[in-house]
Amino acid sequence: MKHILFVASESLPFVKTGGLADVVGSLPQALSSKNRVSVFIPLYQSVIAKLKDAKPVVTFTVNTPCINQVATILKQTHDGIDFYFLQHQGYFERDGLYGYPDDGERFSFFNLACAMFIEKVNLSVDIIHSHDWHAGMIPLLSRVVFKHHPNHKNIKHVFTIHNLAYQGQFPLSVAKDCLGLSDQIINDGSIRFDDGINFMKSAIVYAHKVTTVSPSYAQEILGLSFGERLHEVLRLRQYDLYGILNGIDTKFWDPSSDPLIKHHYDVETLDNKVKNKLELQRKCGLKPTENTLLLGVVSRLTWQKGIHLILDQMADIMGLDVQLIVLGSGEAHLEHGFRHMVEKYYGRLAYVAGYNEPLAHEIYAGCDLLLMPSLFEPCGLSQMIAMRYGTLPVVREVGGLRDSVMPYNSETQEGTGFSFKEFTTSDLYHVLRMAVYLYYHYPIEFEQTQRNAMSVDFSWALSSEQYAKVYDSL
Ligand code: ADP
Repeated sequence: MKHILFVASESLPFVKTGGLADVVGSLPQALSSKNRVSVFIPLYQSVIAKLKDAKPVVTFTVNTPCINQVATILKQTHDGIDFYFLQHQGYFERDGLYGYPDDGERFSFFNLACAMFIEKVNLSVDIIHSHDWHAGMIPLLSRVVFKHHPNHKNIKHVFTIHNLAYQGQFPLSVAKDCLGLSDQIINDGSIRFDDGINFMKSAIVYAHKVTTVSPSYAQEILGLSFGERLHEVLRLRQYDLYGILNGIDTKFWDPSSDPLIKHHYDVETLDNKVKNKLELQRKCGLKPTENTLLLGVVSRLTWQKGIHLILDQMADIMGLDVQLIVLGSGEAHLEHGFRHMVEKYYGRLAYVAGYNEPLAHEIYAGCDLLLMPSLFEPCGLSQMIAMRYGTLPVVREVGGLRDSVMPYNSETQEGTGFSFKEFTTSDLYHVLRMAVYLYYHYPIEFEQTQRNAMSVDFSWALSSEQYAKVYDSL
């Protein structure tokens, strides 16, 4: 049995700002029947309240030219998985997770403390599976800086890119003063990027295997458009690059037992779904009418998610006799755009800012369609969750959206959602109009598509087998 250590910045059930936390929270469970899996994350402020019986494992000092700080590692077992939390009040016990001026220093500390933890405590780790830029220096530290230590010597490294757009770029001083790297490493080209360094690039260079979260995205990032200026580095590693579609936690996301929705249903009792729509409409100040098509958005409001296509096309969209509920926060102009629209379409459009887990469940259960017109989408979980709840996704054919949503085909009645190609308001509108038309004029076909969507297996079973193959190949 191999021991795989996941290193990431977020993991459910402790802390989540996006899909990364879903993956780190579910994949270890799916792998645990054949492997021992542990998880290493920072002890953020919001995590503290969720700890039950966490015990300190070890305390040591991380010492580099600009860091001289004590790290304490706590351990708590959750559902059979050992979680290790890196405690440092100054670095991690803050209101948010990211976006601080000292992120370079904070995450240098995170990477170094993890490498030192492995050195100090013999956990017999066989594979370190690090995720996204926050853990991007682990393969370099383990394979170069700590390579002579017996606990590091034989470790193999897998790195997963959840979103190439966020790379962890910092000034050169972070490499020298925070990570304490030698001039030779800094100048050999493996971590340099523009005038500074790049955590994501370092991981792509030093990991034995690199994975990303859908087969389409694995192809797309090799090109100029989606490669985020790392496509040439990725091309050098393309024979060690795998695209594995994420799964979702199908126990957590289950309309037949979800404790966060009032009316449970499954493929056989799909008629009950509409009761959730009425609850949602009442709760969000929309006119409660079960026959009006309800559109939903559950998303970070960023340029990546194509949210501005919805805003730009709002007059036409609302002209389709629909209601819309949007949940999420992000860029100020997008939030402002929806606030403004609520005044204009009072009773037909609701906007709820913030991160709201219960409401997200109610939207997945209560809506008829979910809009996800992303510019790019490494995998995307919202569309899979929506399908599981019989809410048909309207997506752009890109990345994981292309790999998970089968477009409706009026000839064969196959399909699990609706999709469009070009990143334009007119393409989005065109396909949305078709979906709305189907809902109002061909309810039997619409319902069949809902059943198709609900019947797809989005569990981790398949994906975890593919990860197991990557581990076996090391
Ligand atoms: P991302 O790029 O943000 O990781 P994904 O689709 O991969 O996008 O994952 C998003 C996850 O976060 C889904 O589980 C979705 O339900 C959840 N989510 C996004 N925004 C919100 C929000 N405002 N409130 C609650 N959950 C949200």
